[in-house]
Amino acid sequence: MEILNYLNKNQRAIVKDIEDVVIHDSPSLHKEMVDECGQYLKQLISERLGSVSKEYPNRDVGNHLKFDFGEGAEQILILTHYDTVWEKGTLSFQIEGSRAYGPGIHDMKGGIIQGIWALKAIKDLQLSTNKKIAFLLTADEELFSPTSRELIEKEAKKSAAVLVLEPPNAKTGALKIARKGAAKFKMSVKGISSHAGNNPDVNASAIHEIAHQIRILEGFSDLDQGTTVNVGVVKGGTMSNVVSDNAEAEIDVRFFTKSEGERIEQEILNLQPKFSKTRVQIEGGINRPPMEGNEESARLFELASKSANELGFNITGESVGGISDGNLTAAIGVATLDGLGSVGEGPHAFHEHIKIDEIPNRTALLARLLLKL
Ligand SMILES: [Zn+2]
Repeated sequence: MEILNYLNKNQRAIVKDIEDVVIHDSPSLHKEMVDECGQYLKQLISERLGSVSKEYPNRDVGNHLKFDFGEGAEQILILTHYDTVWEKGTLSFQIEGSRAYGPGIHDMKGGIIQGIWALKAIKDLQLSTNKKIAFLLTADEELFSPTSRELIEKEAKKSAAVLVLEPPNAKTGALKIARKGAAKFKMSVKGISSHAGNNPDVNASAIHEIAHQIRILEGFSDLDQGTTVNVGVVKGGTMSNVVSDNAEAEIDVRFFTKSEGERIEQEILNLQPKFSKTRVQIEGGINRPPMEGNEESARLFELASKSANELGFNITGESVGGISDGNLTAAIGVATLDGLGSVGEGPHAFHEHIKIDEIPNRTALLARLLLKL
């Protein structure tokens, strides 16, 4: 297989490109550092593919980048982000055996470089895609894409399909065919403070109230449907001998379908205080629609699966709880396949790494899939 031979031969060069982008730390909240990494990527894209990247300037976060590859009446969107969750110097690049470690290497700088090399293989082997490829590199995904969302949705609307180069499942290597949606809420409870010894008024305790509310919230979980409600943060009170007049909770909700998300959003926003002297206020709602699988995305996965078979391996598809920008593109009805990046483990964790031996296979998989679309 020509593409796989080419990528096997270039494995070292690919790993070197991954190293060079990983050592440019790009924590989402440090615009200058992210932009420096962006300039490096622009140069790399120009050297590897001869493509000129367009910059979308931002005031507070790094600039987004986009370049086009190939020609065609229709467009395929490749979706990546080059910001990471890691502050400068927290992790360093290193190779141990067949694993390469480093900040953002798995999520998702390895995926970006594989994407660039998939296109380079197509170019150098004088193959051509049927559709134009738009390759987007955003700079604020780890902040939930506040400034890139519009651009992502605009490019997705112009596209026949969206391929997301986030990592595949760590244990199984599976592609991600569906992702849960997410909602976030903040519950604030006001009570009336008093001396716990002299005037123990349980009806006025904000903590007593929020404890009751937490039991109700967690009762909304439905594991059979894949719906989870997690109260992840609780704060409140001042001292043990004071009936508390305030308490707060932060709540994360995940769900597989739009209707389930809307149902649970209503339940939470309609919660009422149980005790007479407290007030309950709830803010928040759905901030990521689910990436629901449909017929078109199933067809996309079929093509990926066929491509893998032609390369001599099998690939599976899974539904997962984590969110990505693929949630946004699927929600506007464009066929989306995610998890086409680097095989590895530990996104957002200190042991974050990728498996070097898997790089040629996964890069070839992406190249073949692009040729079939
Ligand atoms: Zn990511």
